[in-house]
Amino acid sequence: MKPSATAREIDAVVNVIEAIGFRAHPMPGATRTAIGITGNQGPIDGRRFENLPGVAEVIRVTKPYKLITLDLRPDKTMVRVGDATIGGGELAIIAGPCAIESREQAFAVAEAVKQSGARFFRGGVWKPRTSPYTFQGLGEKGIVTEAVEESHVDLIEKYGDVIQIGARNMQNFSLLKRAGRSKLPVLLKRGMAATLEEWLLAAEYIMAEGNYNVILCERGVRTFAQHTRNTLDLASVPAIRRISHLPVIVDPSHGTGTAYMVTPLARAGIAVGADGLMIEVHNQPELALSDSAQALTLSEYAQLIEEVRAIRCLMAPDGDGPLKTA
Ligand code: PEP
Ligand code: MN
Repeated sequence: MKPSATAREIDAVVNVIEAIGFRAHPMPGATRTAIGITGNQGPIDGRRFENLPGVAEVIRVTKPYKLITLDLRPDKTMVRVGDATIGGGELAIIAGPCAIESREQAFAVAEAVKQSGARFFRGGVWKPRTSPYTFQGLGEKGIVTEAVEESHVDLIEKYGDVIQIGARNMQNFSLLKRAGRSKLPVLLKRGMAATLEEWLLAAEYIMAEGNYNVILCERGVRTFAQHTRNTLDLASVPAIRRISHLPVIVDPSHGTGTAYMVTPLARAGIAVGADGLMIEVHNQPELALSDSAQALTLSEYAQLIEEVRAIRCLMAPDGDGPLKTA
């Protein structure tokens, strides 16, 4: 739409899109609103929109994904959670234990996370474990984050702020759609064998349902390497930047699986242009019920935050404004 388009003109275009049987996705940007169309099986003749008042141009998106693209929204998406943001100038830190184990553990770690200035606390309540015999999480008794099945989203909506969809569920399409109908932002981890296109199409599933607050999280993929739990594909950060307006964060905890590698890879993640980090930290890593080997101690975590802030500061000395990467 033209920068001068009125709300009424935008509504009129949305109404036409819906009247011909498609879904309209109005996306306000810094200077203008773009309106995405989904639900069409093939190309649509865009000329029918060209003469509607307020329309600037009709652009055909030929890629398999549409709503995630810079074609639709040239400005980066900034996800707001309370007064914190991901994808704006702020360095977003999501930290906490792999799993919530007890009230004492959760509050001890939360205290350290808050001290560090991080704005997001993580802690799995339902853990997607490879083995059925390992700790599966406390369930409703703890704090909520990752949804492993659709019904979990209802509970996260009651208690949580961000819905995490984990690597093992990146192509759980009914879960993606359910999260797409939620008002909460969704943190979408990359599947352990997912190409960039598959990952972006998973984000597209969420957005196609009307939830545009998606944060991508690179957490490594499975390769032949045996020195790490996963191979942290940091090249995905600039690759996504070139295609998508969505914020991207890096998870060096699952990306390496080993505590001593977490800080170096966190530094690299920020240096490569990520909008933030997800870090696993525990008050007693040696006693952690899940992902013990990759959990940082509280003091290692505090040191990591100091180091990544210093790097971020070198990259964007004024601390805000969009980072120029890629
Ligand atoms: C987690 O964040 O604890 C988790 C299970 O991560 P992933 O889905 O990346 O394995
Ligand atoms: Mn974990």
